[in-house]
Formats: sequence, C-alpha cells, structure tokens
Amino acid sequence: MVEQDYYELLGIQRGSDDAAIKAAYRRMAKECHPDRHNGCRDQEARFKAISEAYDVLKDPQKRAAYDRFGHAAFRNGGGPDPFAEGGFNGFSDIFSTIFGEFMDPRGARQNAARGADLRYDLELTFEEAFIGVEKTIAVEALARCEACSGRGCTNADHCADACQTCGGMGKVRAQQGFFVVERGCPTCRGSGEVISDPCANCHGEGRAMTQRKLSVKIPAGVDEGTRIRVAGEGEAGVRGASSGDLYLFIHMKRHAIYAREGTTLIADCPVSFTTAALGGAINLPGVDGQKVEIKIPAGVQSGEQLRHRGSGMSVLNSRGRGDLVARILVETPTRMSKEQKRLLEEFRATETGDECPAAKGFFSRVREMFG
Ligand SMILES: [Zn+2]
Ligand SMILES: [Zn+2]
Repeated sequence: MVEQDYYELLGIQRGSDDAAIKAAYRRMAKECHPDRHNGCRDQEARFKAISEAYDVLKDPQKRAAYDRFGHAAFRNGGGPDPFAEGGFNGFSDIFSTIFGEFMDPRGARQNAARGADLRYDLELTFEEAFIGVEKTIAVEALARCEACSGRGCTNADHCADACQTCGGMGKVRAQQGFFVVERGCPTCRGSGEVISDPCANCHGEGRAMTQRKLSVKIPAGVDEGTRIRVAGEGEAGVRGASSGDLYLFIHMKRHAIYAREGTTLIADCPVSFTTAALGGAINLPGVDGQKVEIKIPAGVQSGEQLRHRGSGMSVLNSRGRGDLVARILVETPTRMSKEQKRLLEEFRATETGDECPAAKGFFSRVREMFG
C-alpha cells in the first residue's frame, strides 16, 4: 500500500499553520464526504485518509513525530505493531521517554551551551522600595574567561577540531527498538568540536568563576516577592554561547513602625485614654520623609482605623500612592500620681453611665439576666 504524504493529501505546504490545516481539511472533507458520493468506494477511502491526516497534523506532538519519522511513527493499524515489541503502550509513552530530550524548540545544542539563570536575593528598606533605588550587588558566577576571551583555547589561530565521534554534528544516532534516536554527542557534549589546546584557566569551557559588581535599578513600588529580570547577567554560556539571565528576588526589611499590605502602610498607634476621650493628633514619619498628621477624633475606640489617603507606598509602574492607616490602640494608664488618681476619682463620682453607651447597654442586659 502506497501511503500518501499527509500534507499532500490535504493540499498544503509543510510549514502550514493550524488554521490553514483546519481550513484545508474542511474543504477536502466536504468534497469527498461519503454522503455526497453515494457510498463510492474510492471517495470513502479518500475521506478516511484525509481524516487520518488531519487527526495527526492538528496535534502538535503527533505532527512533530510525523515530520520526523513519516508514517512509520504511527504504523500500528495494518502490518505488525511496532509498539508491541518495544514495550510502548502508545503515543504518550514514546514522547515522554524519547522525544522530550531532543524536540526542544529552542534547539538542543544552543540550549546545552547557554549559561544558567541566576537568582539574587535583595533586601530593601520601605524607604528604598518607596522611591526606587540603584544598588550595586556582588555576583559570584561563571563569567567569560578573560585569559582566552571566552574561546576556550590558548591558540587563537587553531582552536578546535571537528569531533570525531559525531563528525561535527554534535549529535549521535542510535537504534533504539524501532526508532532511530538522536542524542547529544557525549564526546563533544553537543558542540561538534573538540578543543585541541584547552585554556588552562577555564579548561576549555570559555568561562570561569568570577566575582563581579553589578549595578541594578530597582523601580519604585516593589514589594516582598517582586521578581526583576536582568537580561544577560546570569551565568556565561559555554565558549561564547549566550548568557543566562539574572533574577532579583525582592525582600522587605522590617520597618520600625509600619507593616505593609500591598501599597497600604499600617501603623499600630497606642493612644492615651485622655487623648482618645478628648481627641488630638499624632504625627507619623512618612516613607517619603514628610510628616503625616493623623487627626484623632474625640471618642475614638480601640481598633478603629484612621486612614490618610495617598500617604502609603508608591504603586509599581504608576505615579499613584496607597494609603496610610493608623490602627488605634487605647492605652489604659498604669502609672499614675496620687493627684491624677484623685482627679479620676472625682471624675468617676460625676459619671452617670451615659458617657460610655456600650458599657451601659451591656450591663443593663447583664442585670436583666440576673432577674
Ligand atoms: Zn561530538
Ligand atoms: Zn579560558
């Protein structure tokens, strides 16, 4: 049986996108649908073939396998079942065991040589996070080898020979059951070359451990957990391959007064009971260095939150600011002079109970329960 190419069957180019595949399938299927041809044998076979082609090409994994192995990748209907012998249960098994390692769209070779990404944890004060800062950080990582300028060899004129094992391809093929499997070459580790005269400093890697200083810009409004990518500042790649990226992970130092919930700054403010009763004001130091005056209304209660709009943290990528919230905690005096006590006794003698309606209501309910 001659198997027709799936792309030819649908009348499309190899590189066609999903939409084009779908459109072609619809058009062809309509044309040769069995209902339209009164059970004509040829048309029926054609319809089946088209459906089969579409079934494979619409699925990225199946399509990739087809592009690589042709019909052999799915031959399990007629003839002997190649999957049975190899112990594969079906498609997904094969993909997870074999395909995963070399069907990386970025290209295995480039991928193996690229430098790793790095993580750097950076702690900032609230004030720094508010305004944004430029920080100099020390990064110890593999960087381009200065001795050989990243080439990996001492002799600049003749650096490397083609690898004998893979013939310079960087990959070797091996039969694995039914499949021909490609793997990165173990001799040259995928580079396709073997260095004839490796640099003594980097042993042919083209990179060596270096401590370097890096200046990084932190935007205003970052918070605990904010991640900043500094492109190309990660580990250097092998022999001049592209570097990885550096990721800054932001952490917030504890603040003496404020806690932070997003862009809101929260301060727990103990207030004397006289200020709570008579009213007043407290001044808080703003993160921008300005004084923030919080007015305390007479009769404020413990737990009440007084909001000062626009005095909180800066909003990332915006000119806006969050709010500042003062959480009031009324403090009962514990150390009083004789004179103060006498004055309070005097005050108590004048109490009618109406001064504190919540207490009055509560105790009247308690009295009712005692009958
Ligand atoms: Zn090789
Ligand atoms: Zn070197």
